[in-house]
Amino acid sequence: MTVPALRPRPVPGLGFQAIGPEEEALVLDVLRRKEPFRYYGMDPAKPPPMAAQLEKEFRAYIGSDYALGVTSGSGALEVALAAAAIGPGDEVIVNAWSWISCFTAIVRVGARPVLAEIDESLNLDPAEIGRLATPRTRAVIVVHYQGVAAAMEPILHEAHRRGIYVVEDCAQSLGTRYRGRQVGSWGDISTYSFQNNKVATSGEGGMVVTRDQRLYERAVRFHDLGNYRPYHAALVPPREPAFAGGQFRMSELTAAVALAQLRKVDKIRDHCRALAARILPRLAGLKGLALRHEADPAGSFGFEPYFFLDRAELVTPFREKLDARNVNCGQRTGTYPQYGRDYVKTGLAHAPGASPFRDFPIWPAEGYRAVDFPRTEDLTKRFIALPLGWLYTTADADYIADSVIAVHREVCG
Ligand SMILES: *Cc1c(COP(=O)(O)O)cnc(C)c1O
Repeated sequence: MTVPALRPRPVPGLGFQAIGPEEEALVLDVLRRKEPFRYYGMDPAKPPPMAAQLEKEFRAYIGSDYALGVTSGSGALEVALAAAAIGPGDEVIVNAWSWISCFTAIVRVGARPVLAEIDESLNLDPAEIGRLATPRTRAVIVVHYQGVAAAMEPILHEAHRRGIYVVEDCAQSLGTRYRGRQVGSWGDISTYSFQNNKVATSGEGGMVVTRDQRLYERAVRFHDLGNYRPYHAALVPPREPAFAGGQFRMSELTAAVALAQLRKVDKIRDHCRALAARILPRLAGLKGLALRHEADPAGSFGFEPYFFLDRAELVTPFREKLDARNVNCGQRTGTYPQYGRDYVKTGLAHAPGASPFRDFPIWPAEGYRAVDFPRTEDLTKRFIALPLGWLYTTADADYIADSVIAVHREVCG
């Protein structure tokens, strides 16, 4: 095969690239009614509809019972942990390879994050739950990394037989399925983000989903200063005492954009899946290269195919050659695993007494250093990511596959 002629670099982006008349119409509806606040508007007897409609369609889409709009995916994680009454003295297991707030949300509620190795799926290795659980372990945060579901059946088995809550962080994987069901419908409580990089976006925003009435009521209370307003009481009658909460309420404007975007998720997923299906089979047989393992490939979103090179030292030249061919691609940055980040290296919270690490005599302690995660280190130093987007065409996908094959021959051949 010859080296393909250079193509222009495709324009990246998922949900925000699909913004159009549908988002405009719903936002204008909120503005024209002059009702930007979800709990009351012009007519005190008739609260505004947008956040309520988003929650209704969201829980139907996920296949769960209750959904609560919040201000962000990070806020959603704090609300979920607080709903489960997790706090000082508790431990929460979380992937070492995860977004910043998967760790910081645990610290913010006063609990101690316990870092776990990932496996060839770049998701949590289910066996880590047994290795890391202690009598203080209250929850595991399972991150469905970049549109590929974690192995929920073994994870639920390992967690629930030890009485550990399963929190699904679906911020990167709205619309992704595992064994025919949406991610977020498996665990005890689940979180989503509508930040700009996500599949569906309202710039900022988030969602909490659960089947559990007690977790729902407590999530509502924590997200609204301890309040439990009539809208929620009509869904689940109040049974829990009020407690001091934060303020993570979603505005009607955010809800309007998120609602229009939610209705586009399946279209965006079908587009990404079709592109990925043109790329992945062509890379499958290449020597010295392995595709990311997927627990259920039929359910993956497909917006970011990954492959591993056997030899880590070839990753940078491989990526640079792809980039020179106008292929958008990414490799691990120096500090992306949690143990490489500054807030883990210092072990600090906002005040000295609030740090769950304050009693460790030596810091960073075992379990918070790169040397403690040989598999996560190895895997994340050997991958190359191929982000796809709403504006990518099938010709772009074919060019990406051609380019990876050509660069592979040059670098690995
Ligand atoms: C984006 C993201 C979050 C945080 O969402 P924000 O809305 O940006 O606060 C949490 N977890 C994961 C896995 C994410 O990718």
